[in-house]
Amino acid sequence: MMEITGSPDLLAYRLVARELTPDATVIEVRGRRIGDGFFGLIAGPCTVETREQTLETARAVAAAGATVLRGGAFKPRTSPYAFQGLGSKGLEILAEAREETGLPIVTELLDPRDVQEVAAVADVIQIGARNMHNFNLLAEVGRVPRPVLLKRAPSATVEELLMAAEYVAKEGNERVILCERGIKTFERSTRYTLDLSAVPVLKRETHLPVIVDPSHAAGRSDLVLPLARAAVAAGADGVMVEVHPRPEDALCDGPQQIRVGEFGRFADEIRTVVALMGKTVG
Ligand code: PEP
Ligand code: MN
Repeated sequence: MMEITGSPDLLAYRLVARELTPDATVIEVRGRRIGDGFFGLIAGPCTVETREQTLETARAVAAAGATVLRGGAFKPRTSPYAFQGLGSKGLEILAEAREETGLPIVTELLDPRDVQEVAAVADVIQIGARNMHNFNLLAEVGRVPRPVLLKRAPSATVEELLMAAEYVAKEGNERVILCERGIKTFERSTRYTLDLSAVPVLKRETHLPVIVDPSHAAGRSDLVLPLARAAVAAGADGVMVEVHPRPEDALCDGPQQIRVGEFGRFADEIRTVVALMGKTVG
């Protein structure tokens, strides 16, 4: 093992540490960039429910200037009786949405057994909050040639998130995007508490891009825009938000999804703050 000199943190994570790699990492997929002045506007449904719902959302977010399309095919649900996603069929629909809009796709991988199938469609592989501590899954995505969007677990410290990213990087894949998505606190007015401090702390500690998911943090669509604006102002390299044609009919996370017809205004507001920060939507 290479000899490490520097701060004690380097014993826990070093490949992701800014101390050893001062230049900011830029993640590029299909010509879209995130990091080092390039801002990622990631939007799409929580879950791929139907072909129509996904294509309608994809077209709308593409037209409004999103840079990456999100959508879950394999869904981590708290109840085993809740809709678990369309699985392989969902991946096919995402591929069709990319074909039509040109937007790169980010979608979640839940099970190491699906890694090849998901990597065949995903431009970016999402590791969800529940799996941030799943070290075998982290190592698995560390061995595939796809960038990884790694979400912070709701009870994980910033340092634990960095160590999780190190698990991916250690296997050879250093293309990791970190995502703050809300942590568990005593507060009940929001689904989680968005830890905006994590953004500048992470930006100091790591060269990796840092994005924010205000949708899962808030759990309420009316708070998504103010939290997203604050995330941009705090220095985030991107935001990821959930959008649905009819949130009231959504099979998952309805209350937090922005209506398709409202996404254009959301994107305009975000671009204003992105420009103020001297960044470019990637
Ligand atoms: C998601 O983004 O689809 C998701 C399930 O979020 P989280 O892992 O943050 O709960
Ligand atoms: Mn969701």
